[in-house]
Order: sequence, then structure tokens, then C-alpha cells
Amino acid sequence: MESIASNLAEVREQIASACRKAGRSGNEVRLIAVSKTKSAGAVRQAWDAGQIEFGESYVQEFLEKLDAPELSELPLSWHFIGHLQSNKVRQIAGKVSMIHGIDKVSTAEELSRRAVQNDILVDYLLEVNVSGEGSKYGLDPASVMPAAEQCFALPGIRLRGLMTIASPEPSATRRQFAQLRQTLEKLRTEAPEPTLLTELSMGMSGDFEEAILEGSTMIRIGTAIFGWR
Ligand SMILES: *Cc1c(COP(=O)(O)O)cnc(C)c1O
Repeated sequence: MESIASNLAEVREQIASACRKAGRSGNEVRLIAVSKTKSAGAVRQAWDAGQIEFGESYVQEFLEKLDAPELSELPLSWHFIGHLQSNKVRQIAGKVSMIHGIDKVSTAEELSRRAVQNDILVDYLLEVNVSGEGSKYGLDPASVMPAAEQCFALPGIRLRGLMTIASPEPSATRRQFAQLRQTLEKLRTEAPEPTLLTELSMGMSGDFEEAILEGSTMIRIGTAIFGWR
């Protein structure tokens, strides 16, 4: 079995090569190591290999990892990438650098209430269902603009961009990433503070090179770093 450190080195090399191919600078794309279902020890190994940003999908598991003795002293940067229900917002607000999976105005409103209560500023992304698959969470692309318009007004939270999971159908993937990029470009033309809208969270182990070619700024990689779940 390959080690986490060598997997990470390989993924970083692939990111650099995709960036060259896209004519982008390597530091335009952040690597988020998705550690869901993996142990705190595995996260520690990735940290020891220079990885700082991590992604988690399940609230309970995330909170346990935060408190794990191997990790509790480290200045890790956590991204919550799972589907977030309103009733769980309270448990993670203030503990993550960014929340990627907000797909309802009501969840953003709850996040805003908690942020104001705790006197913090929370960065988040709206999740978009670009594939139209019924099994996926996310706003449909046509609803992004009206939802964002309601979200812009909410205090304590800042919309920073969009997130998606593409369909596994290879012929459709790149088009779906392009659609997310176009949706963000359109949103910028309407936003009160367009310079805040910089992030496109798209690309996973199987499709991150295409995501980088379409402008991804954050790729979320689990399997290629930590192995199969
Ligand atoms: C699990 C997960 C990933 C990582 O997927 P891999 O295919 O293992 O790289 C990325 N994004 C989200 C939202 C996930 O839930």
C-alpha cells in the first residue's frame, strides 16, 4: 500500500501539471484533503507531510477529530464539505474555515444567526447541483441568483463562491464544471461585493484535472490521498 505522504506528493505533482496545462499558476488551486471516515492518525500523517487544509462531511465525526489528541494542538484548517442541516449549524460554526455545502437560504439564515450571536465571521459557499441528478444536493443553477440575492443581505456570513459535485459520467464532467464557473461569473455581475466571490470548489479524486482546467480554486481529494473508504 502506498503511504499517505507519497500519495500526497503524487497528487500535488498532478495538480501542478494540470495547472501548467491550464496556463494557471500552481498557487491558484488549494488542495483540501478529505479525511472523512479516516482516522485522526491518518490526518496526522498528512499534516506531517505538509498538508494543512482538510475536509470533513459528517458533523459528529468532525467534532471527534477536532478533539483527537493527535490533532488538537495543530493549527489545521478545516472545511465542512458535507450536506449541512440547519439543526447542525450551531455545532460547527466557528470551528471551520469554510462551509461548502449550503443549499438553502434557510440554512444560510441559521448560519447568520449563529455567527452574529457568537460575534464571528463565517465564509461559505452555495452548493449547486449542476448534473441535475435527483440523488444530489444543491440548488439548481437557475435558483442560484435569487438565493444568493437573499443571502448577500445576511450579517455575519460571507458568500465566497460556489461548490459542486459533478456526475461520474466522463462526457458530462467538464461541461458541468464549466457551467459552475459560468454561474459564478454571472453571480459576480449582480453581487454587491463581487471581489468576495473568488471560490470554485470543484474536482475530486476522479475529476480534479478537468476541474482545474475549468477554473477550480479548491479541489477536494479523499481517495487519492487516504485510499479507499
Ligand atoms: C467524499 C467527498 C469528496 C472526496 O471524494 P474522493 O472521490 O474520495 O476524492 C469530495 N467532496 C465531497 C463533497 C465529498 O463528500
